[in-house]
Amino acid sequence: MPGKNPPVRSEEGSYVSYVIGIDLGGTKIIAALADENGRILGRATAETRAHEGAEKGLERIASTVEAAALAAGLGPRGAAAIGIGSPGPLDIRRGMILDAPNLKWKQVPLRDWLVQRFGRPVVLTNDCKAGGLGELRYGAGRGAREMVYFGIGTGVGGAVIQNGQITYGHTLNAGEIGHIVVDLDGPDCACGAQGCLEAIASGAGIGRAGERLAREAAARGAALTEETPGARLLRLVDGDPTKVHGGHVAQAAAAGDPGAQAIMMRAARAIGAAAGSMMNALGPEVVVIGGGVMAKNAEAFLPVIQEVAARVALPGCGAPVKLAALGEESVVMGAIALALDLAKGQG
Ligand SMILES: [Zn+2]
Repeated sequence: MPGKNPPVRSEEGSYVSYVIGIDLGGTKIIAALADENGRILGRATAETRAHEGAEKGLERIASTVEAAALAAGLGPRGAAAIGIGSPGPLDIRRGMILDAPNLKWKQVPLRDWLVQRFGRPVVLTNDCKAGGLGELRYGAGRGAREMVYFGIGTGVGGAVIQNGQITYGHTLNAGEIGHIVVDLDGPDCACGAQGCLEAIASGAGIGRAGERLAREAAARGAALTEETPGARLLRLVDGDPTKVHGGHVAQAAAAGDPGAQAIMMRAARAIGAAAGSMMNALGPEVVVIGGGVMAKNAEAFLPVIQEVAARVALPGCGAPVKLAALGEESVVMGAIALALDLAKGQG
């Protein structure tokens, strides 16, 4: 039912009635229709079921969009534009998923498929970049033009926002904040380097450090006491270090395990060091930290991140560090922001 919402005049003078934003996640798809102020008109979610393959996945994206449109009482083909945030690595220029490890999809022409399906212009970006833009326009970075975003989850992603837009750089791959090296002699990273922020501060990195700690504790055998670093962690996994995940480390730290506490504090300090370094390099107005691991550990992490970042930032380079405000909505809101920019001719 296009026309139910009369077109409204945008600040820039073009006419945009509504757009569609999509968050393609490893486990969940979120689609939403929004007006030109980013107000949600209709929303729908579905499981991604990535293991069923890209073809079925694309159909599920389309049906989630249709369900969101139905909830809004509007037709998807009446949208001014569609934005989508997807796990990478992507080829932004060709609008393709190249080889996304957490979807196990390869060479998927996501943008063109959506263009064909809905007959509307489509813009694709990485999920973390969309998350950063969402926080800038509608969340913790509201009002800023220069921002750095960290997404601390199973992995670590991020976004550099300059002059209100996502920075892609000459390579179109800028903003890979998770692979800033914070410890030259640190643990191996999935990317092949050593001591990346992701290897130390991601949920997966925290889990691997926890597994090492639990092995060391287990090796003590009879000498193990309640106060031994890793003892409480080992008990949480019934004595089996291979079962340790990031969440166990956080739980053991909260219960007073000094070894687990050291792993968590190292993660927070690494984020702080990277945040302060980004302040020195880019001069943002604000640094926003989001992602599931950050949300779960915000109380313990944020003061440490702020303290270390302030110490690393040079005089005249400091910026406030804030917690993300949109939770799991940040990616879909960023996709909406991108669609609005595209519709207004700024994408
Ligand atoms: Zn790395």
